[in-house]
Amino acid sequence: MNTSATPLGKALITGASSGIGAVYADRLARRGHPLVLVARDARRLAELAARMKAAHGVEVEVLVADLTQTADLRRVEARLESDAAISLLVNNAGVGATAPLVQSTPESLDAMLLLNVLALTRLTRAAVPGFVARGQGAVINIASIVALAPELLNGVYSGSKAFVVNLSQSLHHEVGDKGVQVQAVLPGATHTDFWRLAGVPVEHLPQGIVMSAEDMVDAALVGFDRRELITIPSLPDVGDWERADAARRALGPNLSRPKPAERYGVALSA
Ligand code: NAP
Repeated sequence: MNTSATPLGKALITGASSGIGAVYADRLARRGHPLVLVARDARRLAELAARMKAAHGVEVEVLVADLTQTADLRRVEARLESDAAISLLVNNAGVGATAPLVQSTPESLDAMLLLNVLALTRLTRAAVPGFVARGQGAVINIASIVALAPELLNGVYSGSKAFVVNLSQSLHHEVGDKGVQVQAVLPGATHTDFWRLAGVPVEHLPQGIVMSAEDMVDAALVGFDRRELITIPSLPDVGDWERADAARRALGPNLSRPKPAERYGVALSA
């Protein structure tokens, strides 16, 4: 429910037809955001749109698009570039794989990279210049804890999510002081269709590591309201993340120097 006098901007959510994206749709509509819902499955999107209108009384529009297809991606980009009422982009659409790289088909890796990396990048690029010009807007990028744990699942999936974390950190650095909020959310195993589509139904995972999509999104939105750049809903002690990030930053001054480090024993050129 929007209790402020100013109407909330529209939220465009990719991958809204199921799982985490559908929960974002519900929670953001409940806050009073009009919605633009993007995914491939027109029927599921129309049903969700009708439910959201009835439950929360907000305007809901459906954009059916396969974000791995250039023409569809361009249509969603054009919408983000031209609709100044959109103030929140939730880059949620994504696919994964549980099979290792050596057992993956080139087509499955292409599809994963096109959706998780290329589409997310292009939509972010389409939305953010307008947010900067208006001095207001937010991007929520759904990454994954595998960004921090490359030994888990498929390496291309984990690499795609590490890309999302890096891009989010860089974007925050670039536009954080221009009125644009950026958040990367790193869910652990979450109870959605993702797992069945990735090759292992979620019921086959140890249930002690699986969170509901509702709890995951509710925690992520608390992190958003606290303006966290990185939100890891499962992590009990945020200090663990802060120490890891501080260690990364401490590398900074030594990452680019005129000579190789002494420990390599290279005979230095003059
Ligand atoms: P999901 O239920 O399978 O949802 C994926 C969504 O993406 C669906 O709405 C799907 O809709 C959409 N989508 C898939 N391919 C698309 C395409 N080519 N074009 C447009 N939309 C497409 O899985 P989920 O768990 O909610 O996943 C949401 C995000 O969370 C993903 O980025 C995933 O990597 C991330 N994540 C999930 C977990 C987990 O354990 N579930 C953990 C960490 C991160 P259509 O089929 O209708 O297109």
